Amino acid sequence: MSNITCKDAKANVYDYLAQEVSDETRESITAHLRDCVDCAGEYSLELQISSFISASSLNSNSTDDLVNRAYAQIELEEEN
Ligand SMILES: [Zn+2]
Repeated sequence: MSNITCKDAKANVYDYLAQEVSDETRESITAHLRDCVDCAGEYSLELQISSFISASSLNSNSTDDLVNRAYAQIELEEEN
């Protein structure tokens, strides 16, 4: 599963955000998001929604950290 389609990426975006995918799937989606502006935009939107939800909860420090790290990675890749 090294090359995935937009359909696969979008179908897995929620599980990806929740880190409920296998390492192989995660790497495939990460690679796809790096190459696909459309999916990267959708992922970014979902990430903002997730960030908002977790910011509303006082008991989600680990999720905050996860979201922040993921967001920082996207920002880095946008700068390149
Ligand atoms: Zn795509």
